[in-house]
Amino acid sequence: MDAALIASECIDSRTKGETPGIMCKLDIQKAYDHVRFSVLVNGEPVGFFTSERGLRQGDPLSPFLFILAMEGFDSMMRIASQNSKERGGLGIRNLRSQNESLLMKWLWRYTGEERALWKEVIVAKYGEINPWCTENVSEPYGVGVWRTISNLWPQMEANLYLKVGNGNKPKFWKDGWVNQTSLKDLFPDLFLICENPEDRVCDCWTEQGWNISFRRMLNDWEIERVAVLLGTLGGISITPTATDRVLWKLSTDGVFSVKSAYNSGLYEMTRGTQYPWRYFWKSVMPAKVKGFTWLVIRRACLTQEVLQKKGRQLVPRCFLCNITGETNKHLFLHCKFTTQLWNLFLNITSTSWTMPEHTSDLLSC
Ligand SMILES: [Zn+2]
Repeated sequence: MDAALIASECIDSRTKGETPGIMCKLDIQKAYDHVRFSVLVNGEPVGFFTSERGLRQGDPLSPFLFILAMEGFDSMMRIASQNSKERGGLGIRNLRSQNESLLMKWLWRYTGEERALWKEVIVAKYGEINPWCTENVSEPYGVGVWRTISNLWPQMEANLYLKVGNGNKPKFWKDGWVNQTSLKDLFPDLFLICENPEDRVCDCWTEQGWNISFRRMLNDWEIERVAVLLGTLGGISITPTATDRVLWKLSTDGVFSVKSAYNSGLYEMTRGTQYPWRYFWKSVMPAKVKGFTWLVIRRACLTQEVLQKKGRQLVPRCFLCNITGETNKHLFLHCKFTTQLWNLFLNITSTSWTMPEHTSDLLSC
């Protein structure tokens, strides 16, 4: 996992860099219809060798391969739903949320791992805002995965709190180390007159206790405010031998887990309505049909459009009508042959229907 992240970030830097250089990656890719080897130099594909002719729609063997693949998918689905019954509801879940929970694990590791190579690469490349978080990744393009991961920081940060040890890392005013809040927010008036807003917690601690410096003499009412501040800090003391720790609010032991992140419903809250996959997977359709529908709606079927995006050289023509390009929405919705099939079905079921623009609208209407 570490190696994959490092490789992705190195390629990203290489492709954006001004200095010439060479980077080779040998990639052995296996899809259900073919095996191929591709070579990337500086992130650009320079060609691929196909070990055998690719098989796809139009090829007499292809439907059989498709059925084989779907049989495999079918049994995977069956195992997954069996597991879900045994584990009481876990199993096939929202893949995107699952994926984001997994990516958040990186942010968690970032807060805790001191001397890991992958972290050094990331820090060197992006810089740090504080010991727990990198600078925002501003480049809108590139292949680095850290960009995607760091976008999840707001969700992560909202569920973290600090437990101060020796106070070497957190900033006294700016980090949320007191009651999960920053002193800047609790005492904005005092923050304005503090001597150094960048002070770390340990800078404000002596063996005699807290020692906070201000830029000028305090007024009477400010002295009262400082007394309140010291009262707030009353229960906290610095332990020189302990390290500062970042803890996770959503688990009892303060340790991040993918499961707790997923179960918190973090994503449903932030993202509003979700695609109705939950109901879809629960429906009574045969798993094979569900699998195929899922592929169509996610535009993951190997249409010519998708093959082209994968770098295959071809003249895009719909396999059925030979008139226009074989896009996902054309092949499954708008092609004149497909339309005949739809009309047949709609007539049989006496349904009035307006064909949606995209296949993704099929389930939501
Ligand atoms: Zn067509």
